Amino acid sequence: MARALDSSVTASLSRKAHYLEVLHEFALSQVNLNSLDEILWNVAKTAIAKLGFVDCVIYLISDDGSTLIQKAAHGPKNPVQQEILNPITIKVGDGIVGAVAQTGKSERISDTRKDSRYIVDDALRLSELAVPIIHDSRVIGVLDSEHPESDFFTEEHVQLFTTIASLASTRIDTALAMERLNSTIDRLSVTEKRLEMKAEELNQAKIEADRASVEKSKFLANLSHEIRTPITAILGYAELLTRAGKSVVERDEWGSQVRQNTDYLLGLVKDVLDISSIESGELRADIRNCNLRELIFDVVALMRPEIEEKDLQFHVDVDGNIPTWIMSDQLRLRQALVNLLSNAMKYTNEGEINLGVWSQKGVESEQFDLFFQVEDTGIGIEAEVSSDIFEPFVRGDHAERCIAGAGLGLAMARNFARMLGGDIELESELGRGSIFTLHIVCGTVDDSPGVGPQHFESDVTNVDNTMNVSAQLEGRVIHVVEDSSAIATMIRYLLEDAGAEVTHSANGNHGVSHVLAARDRDALPDLILMDMQMPIKDGYAATSELRQQGIDVPIVAMTAFAFMGDKEKCLAAGCDAYMSKPIDPAKFVQQISVYML
Ligand code: ADP
Repeated sequence: MARALDSSVTASLSRKAHYLEVLHEFALSQVNLNSLDEILWNVAKTAIAKLGFVDCVIYLISDDGSTLIQKAAHGPKNPVQQEILNPITIKVGDGIVGAVAQTGKSERISDTRKDSRYIVDDALRLSELAVPIIHDSRVIGVLDSEHPESDFFTEEHVQLFTTIASLASTRIDTALAMERLNSTIDRLSVTEKRLEMKAEELNQAKIEADRASVEKSKFLANLSHEIRTPITAILGYAELLTRAGKSVVERDEWGSQVRQNTDYLLGLVKDVLDISSIESGELRADIRNCNLRELIFDVVALMRPEIEEKDLQFHVDVDGNIPTWIMSDQLRLRQALVNLLSNAMKYTNEGEINLGVWSQKGVESEQFDLFFQVEDTGIGIEAEVSSDIFEPFVRGDHAERCIAGAGLGLAMARNFARMLGGDIELESELGRGSIFTLHIVCGTVDDSPGVGPQHFESDVTNVDNTMNVSAQLEGRVIHVVEDSSAIATMIRYLLEDAGAEVTHSANGNHGVSHVLAARDRDALPDLILMDMQMPIKDGYAATSELRQQGIDVPIVAMTAFAFMGDKEKCLAAGCDAYMSKPIDPAKFVQQISVYML
């Protein structure tokens, strides 16, 4: 008996010695570990495994204190190195582990079948020991071990686990704090990066805005220069024209100078408006049926005399396969082509200009690509400026010095090409010549006869002056509502010259009263010319009022605004047609006579 007792005491002592040795080794090994993972897996491997327990799971409480998360394990829950098989989470308060986390007190269960709180994780085991990991009187995790046999864990095991938990707790807490700190640092550095990116974006936006502002100033400075030159000429010649004692030849020459410079100014204003409308996205292509062959014929007929006058040869090569009818914006296409040909003529002093036209089936079956190649043997363009010259007001050095121009032609042509789904390509060699290839994408149209361009002519400025319309206004009565006496007088001269009888009101109010009074006398005018911008009552209000009063005399609007939408506004007010100022005296009578047929 004494021997038996002796041997059990010896066994207990040697077990305790082993426990102490493992705990000592564990305590030492913990010192060198820093990451939370390393520390927790070390608890499982160095302490629990070496002490001979079949399984153990180490739980940590989540940051918000609501759940327990499995972080490391020994036994069946850890089939592979540093990995947990099907990790689960347990709500604080749930099951035995949850209860320990909530109360901070160890639980030693001798028969789990009798404990309703027991949660089966991977397999049913009959004994369970769960010990809190406490730091600064706060539970930060739970050390949990189960055993297949009932009544397996002893009070000694409780103490052992409590010692392990307390040896590990400080380091776990420090590592947790470090982890939180690191994630805060990570978050901060992400925020810092975002801020840096934001600052960079703002900087970039500022650079863009500065550049846009410089571009705008440059644009305005260029525009002002371009406007001053012709205005100086107009003022000069107009002054000369007022002087007495000059010959008819001189007067004709000065008059024609005034006319040329005015035309130039007008073209410039139109181009600038077009460019700014295109850039702000307001100007859209007006796509409709147009006769391509006719368009090419017209452009060639327009350019040939000028080109040949410079003693240049002009060859035109149109591929026989091009369609006759296309869906495109006739005016823009024509202008782009004229601009390229005018440049070829302007910048070529000897040799030839070739125009080639061909088409190709497009990627989409309903479409095809149309190419216009303008080739010249002129001065050519330096490679460095070949993309800049497509910007508004940018001109080549040589051009700047000796050839007139505003630097808008190519900008317009490229904008139009892009509006029509294509672009312009340039190949050039200084001193040898240039090739500009204008490309557009068009819709196809049935080539059968009878399908022709549909004209829409509420803009009377578009009425061709070759139209067979009598220009005689003999016996016609026209009422002019116009606040500028200079313009009213000029219009009166033009109309009276054509035989019309002209009456005049200086604002919308007078205009309305005049016309209503004329109706009472049964003497309505044949046409009303209505200025739209007038003091007291403008042309829009006056027109609406006349229409409301049942006056159905044709009203032609005259406006100095040539922006998109003005025409629509005039038509909406009740006008029959729209004419943008300045009016062209040579075509004026013919244009308005269309409305008195
Ligand atoms: P502008 O002719 O009024 O200067 P453009 O926008 O039409 O304006 O052309 C811009 C510049 O491109 C011209 O000033 C000229 O330097 C250059 N350029 C255009 N077409 C040609 C060409 N066919 N040959 C040589 N240079 C050209």
